[in-house]
Amino acid sequence: MESKKVEETILESEKRFRQFSEISFEGIIIHDYGTIVDANNTIANMLGYELNEIIGKTVLDFAAEESHDLIMKNIGYEKPYELVALRKNGSKFPIEVIAKNVIYKGKSLRVTAIRDITDRIKAEEDLRKAHEELEKRVEERTFELSEINNMLIQEIRERKAIEKILEIQKEELERSNQELEHFAYVASHDLQEPLRMISSYLQLLQKRYIGKLDQDADDFIEFAVSGAKRMQGMLQGLLDYSRIGRKGNSLTETDLNQVIEIAISNLLLSINESGAKILYNTLPTVLADMNQMIRLFQNLINNSIKYKGNENPVILISSQLDDKKWIIKIKDNGIGIDKSNFKRIFTIFQRLHSKSEYPGEGLGLAVCKKIIERHGGKIWVESEPGDGTTFFITIPV
Ligand code: ADP
Repeated sequence: MESKKVEETILESEKRFRQFSEISFEGIIIHDYGTIVDANNTIANMLGYELNEIIGKTVLDFAAEESHDLIMKNIGYEKPYELVALRKNGSKFPIEVIAKNVIYKGKSLRVTAIRDITDRIKAEEDLRKAHEELEKRVEERTFELSEINNMLIQEIRERKAIEKILEIQKEELERSNQELEHFAYVASHDLQEPLRMISSYLQLLQKRYIGKLDQDADDFIEFAVSGAKRMQGMLQGLLDYSRIGRKGNSLTETDLNQVIEIAISNLLLSINESGAKILYNTLPTVLADMNQMIRLFQNLINNSIKYKGNENPVILISSQLDDKKWIIKIKDNGIGIDKSNFKRIFTIFQRLHSKSEYPGEGLGLAVCKKIIERHGGKIWVESEPGDGTTFFITIPV
């Protein structure tokens, strides 16, 4: 009677166990040293079998061969571990298992809970792949960046070397420019004295002996006198030219309207004689050497009058702000200049006409160029023969 009750109690608890195990999401098997004595439908479904096909088989029948050793090793342990399960259709999938010893149907057996970890392994795999991909990308990008960095370092090195060379060349150029300027100054200054002597004695000869020798002698003396005069003019020009850099005043706020007014008043005679009209808009105030600015505008206005066309000269002076500089235009309606001479006319002693056509030494524009460059600006020309000339100058704001 007593043992019947015990048996009933056991049956009752086994029934309860079955009920509980059937609502589990995890597969559960109960085995006796590997031989399955009971299982729930979850594990049967997981493996693709009917429940009754499982009972009586061994756990190794449902594990991939590579996991057999692991299973054997873990018998008796109660820690979770992972292995590969085998479905009825031969496909494999990863599972995690945990086992415990229990008394079942009056025997000491092992109950094992089994979880399909395909999703987790896949997620881990995806994560690992993503991580690897990311690391690969970071590595590639780091490599790219270090390549770029190396290129930049190389470029900086090259630029620095070029800068150094340019710096040396600039110093060398400045030094040789100064030397040249000094040479021109000394030469033109020192040559003036003997030339004055030649010129005055030639003039004395002319005065005393004109008409007393023959015609040839008169002509020769005349040529010598005018040659000496011309040379004096050139030397004076050269001296003036070499003085621009050496003897310039410091740059101060200079009102260009005032500059133009003074230049016009200096040229009043030739302006009146030629009937020239000079128009200018309100011009800016710039940092400049006032006397040199007067000289620059005077040279340009003077040329516009000298190289006038058939009409009376009309000279327009206008200014315009461009980025960090003023552009000043001096436009006339004179004879114009051929494109091929645009560069040449700014060179010292270069002229496009003979002295008998137009007087001059070929210095005016060279002086303008030197003045404007001393002010950090530029000068250039645009023109068409017969259609007037426009000179452009820039002055930093
Ligand atoms: P110069 O007037 O003494 O010859 P410049 O240096 O002032 O010397 O001018 C050089 C040359 O440029 C001149 O010989 C002339 O042919 C040309 N030139 C200068 N200004 C003008 C102008 N406004 N119109 C036409 N030609 C010009």
